[in-house]
Amino acid sequence: MSTLSADPILPRHPRWGEFLDRLSGPEGCNFQEATTTWTCFGGTDKRFSRRVLACMGLSERAIDVSLAYFEDHGGLCDCEVVFNVGAARSTGADTGPPEPVELATHRYGPAGMVTHMKTTVEIADPLLAAAKRVAAARGTTVRALIEAGLRRVLDEHDRDATFRLRDVSFGGDGLAPEFAEGGWQRVRDAIYEAHGA
Ligand SMILES: [Zn+2]
Repeated sequence: MSTLSADPILPRHPRWGEFLDRLSGPEGCNFQEATTTWTCFGGTDKRFSRRVLACMGLSERAIDVSLAYFEDHGGLCDCEVVFNVGAARSTGADTGPPEPVELATHRYGPAGMVTHMKTTVEIADPLLAAAKRVAAARGTTVRALIEAGLRRVLDEHDRDATFRLRDVSFGGDGLAPEFAEGGWQRVRDAIYEAHGA
C-alpha cells in the first residue's frame, strides 16, 4: 500500500504551482490561449481538480479538505479554481491597482460538456473593493455578483423593450435610458444595491 499525503494542497503549499499548472493543462481544463476556450463541467464539478490531486498522491481526506477550501474561496468548478483561487495567490490583499476581473461564461454543449468564454473587464478600485466586501459577506464571488448584475440589466432591458411605449418616469430603481448602451453603470448600481440589501 502506497503512502498518501495527508496535507491538503492549498495556496502557499510548495506544490500549489504544480497543481495549478496541471489543472490548467491537458489533464485538466486545457486552457487554449489562442481561442480563450477551455473545458470545465461547470456547477460544482471539480473532477479535474480531484483527479490531479489524486495523481499528486493526496489521501481522500486531504483531497476533500482541498476541494472544500476551493469552494470557500470562489472555486466551485475546475476553471473557477484556476481563476478565483489561483489568482488569489498572485494578487493577495485588497489593495493595489485595479485588477481585471475574469468573467467565465458557461456554455453547455453536447453531453453536458461546458465550454467557457473568457472576458476581461476593468473595474474601478473603490467599486471592486465594495464588490469584494459584499462577495465575502455573502460567501460568493465578485464574478457571481457581476453576472447577477448583468442578468438584471439584461432582464430590465428586455422589459424596457417590451414597454417602450409607456411613459416611464426615471429615477430611483426605475428604468434608465442607458440600458440600451452596454449598461456598466447598471452593473455598478446593482452591486451597490446588493451591498445595501
Ligand atoms: Zn468552470
